[in-house]
Amino acid sequence: MKPKEIAIIGGGPAGLAAAEVLSFSGHSITVYDSMPTLSRKFLLAGKSGLNLTHAEDYGQFVMRFGSASDRLRPALDAFSPLAVRAWAEELGVKTFIGTSGRVFPTAMKASPLLRAWLKRLETCGIKIRTRHRWTGFSGRDYLFDTPDGQKMIQPDAALLALGGASWPRLGSDASWLPWLQNAGVNVASFQPANCGFEVAWDDMFRERFAGAPVKSVTATSDAGIIPGEFVITRHGIEGSLVYAHAANLRERLASQGEAALLVDLVPGRTLERLVKDLARQGGKSSFSNRLRKGAGIDGVKLALLRHFADDTDLTNPESTARLIKHLPISVSRPRPIAEAISSAGGIRWDSVGENYMLKAIPGLFAAGEMLDWEAPTGGYLLTACLATGRAAGRGIAEWLKC
Ligand SMILES: Cc1cc2nc3c(=O)[nH]c(=O)nc-3n(C[C@H](O)[C@H](O)[C@H](O)COP(=O)(O)OP(=O)(O)OC[C@H]3O[C@@H](n4cnc5c(N)ncnc54)[C@H](O)[C@@H]3O)c2cc1C
Repeated sequence: MKPKEIAIIGGGPAGLAAAEVLSFSGHSITVYDSMPTLSRKFLLAGKSGLNLTHAEDYGQFVMRFGSASDRLRPALDAFSPLAVRAWAEELGVKTFIGTSGRVFPTAMKASPLLRAWLKRLETCGIKIRTRHRWTGFSGRDYLFDTPDGQKMIQPDAALLALGGASWPRLGSDASWLPWLQNAGVNVASFQPANCGFEVAWDDMFRERFAGAPVKSVTATSDAGIIPGEFVITRHGIEGSLVYAHAANLRERLASQGEAALLVDLVPGRTLERLVKDLARQGGKSSFSNRLRKGAGIDGVKLALLRHFADDTDLTNPESTARLIKHLPISVSRPRPIAEAISSAGGIRWDSVGENYMLKAIPGLFAAGEMLDWEAPTGGYLLTACLATGRAAGRGIAEWLKC
């Protein structure tokens, strides 16, 4: 078969994963990216410890993608968390399983993995064109803004792997949304996922506790009872425990206009035990001493209790214990999408074929965070970006055979 031209637009993890699969196809592959260097979000992800995937039971892993689990499953089956670890190892990057089951490279960073990956892709003949910003279609052509002016290309097949809408300054700014909508592709508007939420702190609380971690608690929403920690920020709350409930809080705010994260400040003790422990404290000691000795609560936890308590809540051991076990932290809205770890929304699945080709535009495929799925933090995001990129790459190779 005569080699075909394949354009991969977007050089994040999804685009590079597709390029990797296609590098064995004999076709001519070019990766285009608007930024001066590739995979900037991937590199940033490595700044706080690159969480590549998760080692939990695979059945549970797949369910983390909620309503998109069924659509993602074939791609994940073909590039499972175990395959992600083997792939990293092949690139010379060993991984380990952290205490929470999250999988990290031993060096924690993304840069050694990305360097080795790009080197391997270039060795396989993949061409890389940075500072090439896709700006839409002109008939069947793809238009790019480049340092040398506007370019038009007409590949035999193309993949869009343009990311979601968080951290736009790293490259994925969702500017493509209207171009695809005009071409008949169904797109759900982007919303922040794995994001912080705003809380109406008073000035004193904000000044004193912004930056304080709230550790060893559980938080409950329809997402379940999840142990962990979060951080008080100037605007509200942030951190892994908040991210785990973010989709639920966001949906509640949209449907009911209000939402609260229900926090248990002392998950190790039952309500009954806590009532007894508080009742045992002498009436002569101060309220804060009674809470510290009876429940181990002080500092930011004590301030949170006071912040959300009604006049009657802290008047007796029963009502105090109830509030400690079920503290409702009311949130008013998600923080802006530009600050979120990831986004929800994107190209709807009814516009995407099983092979990841867009039904409205034959020969154009899509992968990664620009598709309509979301997942909590924990390595699920990168695994799904890599897996869908690879699935789309296989889809392109098959489609070009026809
Ligand atoms: C702070 C932070 C930490 C994170 N940590 C983790 C983590 O530990 N584990 C995890 O699983 N996930 C993590 N993520 C999420 C993860 O990085 C993303 O889900 C993933 O990078 C998305 O991959 P992608 O290839 O779909 O898109 P992206 O990585 O966003 O790549 C898209 C590429 O397309 C390019 N592009 C966009 N528009 C155009 C255009 N018009 N023309 C040409 N090129 C264009 C962009 O420049 C970019 O290079 C983190 C995210 C953030 C922000």
